[in-house]
Amino acid sequence: MTFESSTEIATSVDPAAVAGHRPHPAMDRDHTFDVVVVGGGPAGATAASDLARGGRDVLLLDRAGRIKPCGGAIPPRLVRDFAIPDGILCARISGARMIAPSDKRVDMPIEDGFVGMVDREVFDEWLRTRAVANGATRLDGTFETLTRDPDGVARVHWKVATKDGGGTLSVRARAVIGADGANSAVAREAVPQRGPVPFVFAYHEIVEAPETGTADYEENRCDVFYQGKLSPDFYAWVFPHGKTASIGVGSMHKGFGLKDAVAELRGTTKLDGVRTIRKEGAPIPLHPAKKWDNDRDVLLAGDAAGVVAPASGEGIYYAMVGGRLAAEAVETYLETGRSQALAGARKAFMKAHGRVFFILGIMQRFWYVNDKRRERFVSICRDADVQRLTWQAYMNKELVRRDPMAHVRIFFKDLAHLFGLVRP
Ligand SMILES: Cc1cc2nc3c(=O)[nH]c(=O)nc-3n(C[C@H](O)[C@H](O)[C@H](O)COP(=O)(O)OP(=O)(O)OC[C@H]3O[C@@H](n4cnc5c(N)ncnc54)[C@H](O)[C@@H]3O)c2cc1C
Repeated sequence: MTFESSTEIATSVDPAAVAGHRPHPAMDRDHTFDVVVVGGGPAGATAASDLARGGRDVLLLDRAGRIKPCGGAIPPRLVRDFAIPDGILCARISGARMIAPSDKRVDMPIEDGFVGMVDREVFDEWLRTRAVANGATRLDGTFETLTRDPDGVARVHWKVATKDGGGTLSVRARAVIGADGANSAVAREAVPQRGPVPFVFAYHEIVEAPETGTADYEENRCDVFYQGKLSPDFYAWVFPHGKTASIGVGSMHKGFGLKDAVAELRGTTKLDGVRTIRKEGAPIPLHPAKKWDNDRDVLLAGDAAGVVAPASGEGIYYAMVGGRLAAEAVETYLETGRSQALAGARKAFMKAHGRVFFILGIMQRFWYVNDKRRERFVSICRDADVQRLTWQAYMNKELVRRDPMAHVRIFFKDLAHLFGLVRP
């Protein structure tokens, strides 16, 4: 991190001319916010909302103008814990279809509940609007750098667009939450990690949903393709979003042809004829970062902290949990002045979800390596115990302990599959 006098960075913009929402009366460079949250995705919007609701003076700074590329699947636990209104969901999914390399299909109906689908353009905007309704100040801008004022307080600088082209603004912050996604500039600058962070590169096309019966597609079913030709180490998907659908694929191999794979998938599912609305990609971090705070006043949340579940790539719920835990840790830090409180966010997250991440990581490394294993993996999904426990774990985000015999049965079935005693 660079330590320099605040006067060295020019504030060449009239704050009143900044493109944004509800300019803050105290938007002057000497104003000290309790917290500046960088990034208005699920993690940042949740953190800003919680802190503002608790009475904190919060600035939510978000780079406007890009819809987050995302499959948009969320569990009921998220809907419950974060009070998401029904109307935000663009589809309700009643089951998944797993497709093996041999093209064998296994349907996994959800017995009790549904998976919600969200359109990230609508969902993220709703979360940001809620943060503002709770009292946060919201501004459009791209975080540039963090410096220190002579009294040691952090100064957050960001680029803004104006009628005349743009410039830089800054404010002071007692604490900063970096929720600016997988390529987090805040993390790079304030909480650099040792060694490379593992990523899946994901690409999807948003298309118009097909007319009923014209494609291999159901408006309430998520299709997941475990086929080496579509992804050598992850999976491909077709997820319905009401009037649209997401057709995508992920892989850790940098050179893998993601666009070709989606084209092939669209061909085989007869979705090649429908209109394409957007084509977009983004990295998915697959490992919680070792360190989330700078031992002083900066804390990471969501993708910036690497909290996406391995094997599934599920990140929205974990980003919102991370945002909430970041808000709690920052609140304690602001109350007590103890910077050690910031480390509490990672500790609490790993206590609640570390085990699931560990198991999913092993699953991904074991089952996603070749078509033989993928075939067996899909075959295991036919099992009633596997289906029930998988859905319960996904929907409620808890490892199911109530039915120990089901775990034992699955363990022995897994062994039988591993040793090839069961035909896929
Ligand atoms: C193709 C794809 C499909 C996916 N499908 C699913 C799925 O079906 N279900 C699921 O749960 N997860 C899915 N994920 C993962 C999920 O999208 C992420 O884990 C989740 O969005 C993380 O939320 P976040 O708030 O941490 O980051 P983001 O959603 O990335 O939000 C970061 C925010 O920060 C802003 N920002 C970035 N840089 C700056 C800057 N310098 N200054 C200011 N603002 C900045 C961005 O504009 C954005 O608003 C998918 C991911 C991809 C790429």
